[in-house]
Amino acid sequence: MAKKLRLIPLGGLGEIGKNMMLFEYGDDALLVDAGLMFPENDMLGIDYIIPDFRYVLENKDKVRGIIITHGHEDHTGAIKHVMQQVNAPVYATPLTRGLLEVKLRDAKLHDRVSLNTINAGDQVAIGPFAVEFFHVCHSIPDGVGLGITTPAGLIVHSGDFKFDHTPVDGWPTDYAKLAEFSGRGVLALLSDSTNADKAGWTPSEAVIDPAFDDVFRQAPGRILVATFASLISRIQQVANAAVRHGRKMALVGTSMVENAKMAQKLGYLTVPEGTIIPTDEALRLGPSKVVIMTTGTQGEPSSILGRLSEGRNRQFDLIANDTVVLSSHPIPGNEEMVHRTINKLLQRGARVIYDPIAPVHVSGHASAEEMKLLIHLVKPKYFVPIHGERRHLNQHAAIAREVGLPAENISVVENGMILEFEDGKMRVTDRIPGGYVYVDGSGVGDIGPTVMREREALAQDGFVIVNLRVNAAGKLLGKPDIISRGFVFVRDADEMFAAAQEQIALAAARVNGSSNGTTGLRDTVQKALADFFYAELKRRPMIFAFVNEA
Ligand SMILES: [Zn+2]
Ligand SMILES: [Zn+2]
Repeated sequence: MAKKLRLIPLGGLGEIGKNMMLFEYGDDALLVDAGLMFPENDMLGIDYIIPDFRYVLENKDKVRGIIITHGHEDHTGAIKHVMQQVNAPVYATPLTRGLLEVKLRDAKLHDRVSLNTINAGDQVAIGPFAVEFFHVCHSIPDGVGLGITTPAGLIVHSGDFKFDHTPVDGWPTDYAKLAEFSGRGVLALLSDSTNADKAGWTPSEAVIDPAFDDVFRQAPGRILVATFASLISRIQQVANAAVRHGRKMALVGTSMVENAKMAQKLGYLTVPEGTIIPTDEALRLGPSKVVIMTTGTQGEPSSILGRLSEGRNRQFDLIANDTVVLSSHPIPGNEEMVHRTINKLLQRGARVIYDPIAPVHVSGHASAEEMKLLIHLVKPKYFVPIHGERRHLNQHAAIAREVGLPAENISVVENGMILEFEDGKMRVTDRIPGGYVYVDGSGVGDIGPTVMREREALAQDGFVIVNLRVNAAGKLLGKPDIISRGFVFVRDADEMFAAAQEQIALAAARVNGSSNGTTGLRDTVQKALADFFYAELKRRPMIFAFVNEA
């Protein structure tokens, strides 16, 4: 059988986050990105989510290399989980590599992983794949897209991109390279869909500078800017504003401090000596002399911004005349938590500035017109929208049809759906697992859907514990104890719990004398109580009955 090129999306297709794509040709494979996704607010107790990359592990001897397109968490955050189990060289640009080093050092994998620095413009042979890296603008410097020449044809992977003519680092997307690919004939384009439902053109990062100037000019006291720890370009812009307005800058939060240190060391963050000062020093300066940068833009309660909004941050608290700037947009699903944080910050007396009140954030992703331009530059035969929820992928497909690609040459696929290329034709074939792996504390994947459902039930309706005392013959002795948490306000429920005790007695009498002993009694009581509470309150608490022989 002739070998085929198989593209296997394992994450990021059908969702925002945990990007991962496998390129497979015969006995060789190449992995692109290893990202994480932050949990939505209904995923209780989950720290983060990584792709289900079982398929990669089953085929780990095939993996010739791992490319990380840029340093954002949704492309790097699963790297330690992959590198614990897969032995293949990693390729990344200098800044991305630096940020990966920070992660691998934390996971004590630093010595075991072979990290290879590549630069935009380089070409590297990885197994049967000739990979050309081209520069793309994004909200972090040193991002790349990929031109991958495979035995089946040339595939262009956009990475995360936008077409910014005035980016912070002065380095626009490599249009010439994209046009050059089209001259060679591109079999398929895989393109970032994050902003497919945004018309027009994503504003340049340059619009943020005057917005920050306004904030810095008008702020009567301290300025706190919250953004993602990996948004190096934004840290640069805040530092520039601090210099222009005579403020010192402090970075708070381990990940942001580490990332900034690495970016400075590698020359991707240039700040005059003495501008960045330690936090304790910044806190002693006059309020109008400092800007504090921190994380927590997604309303995470455990983040510094989340703690400040609730007055329980250890190192410092909000003070009068503080201006808080949220330099980010909520990731879909986080809107509610972000708005709650903003409301709390306002209640605590802070001035709060966020987009759309002022353009203090622009997206790092292309909007519809940029997507069209990319398709025109690359002129692919086939088109596959990547990086986005289903609505983004479908909209991106509509955009591709709008610019003239035939509908039958566009495939909207989600995680786990395999695309095959053979004889210049693309088709969707098998489906493999492409779901969530929950990371909870140090546990990876031991939290399954059952545990998540139980946590949901507990969070929604609480639990009830019933203690039954029985004699040796299995006959109920006295009234059972009922204890509940998170279910009803017990003092108001005396009457209902008394009725529940009667239901238990009735159920126990029915079981009495039957052969299946305490298990039968326990199950019958649990069921009777569940039915009773549902009839009373239309709620289903978790019910645990314990049978003790007296
Ligand atoms: Zn990104
Ligand atoms: Zn991304």
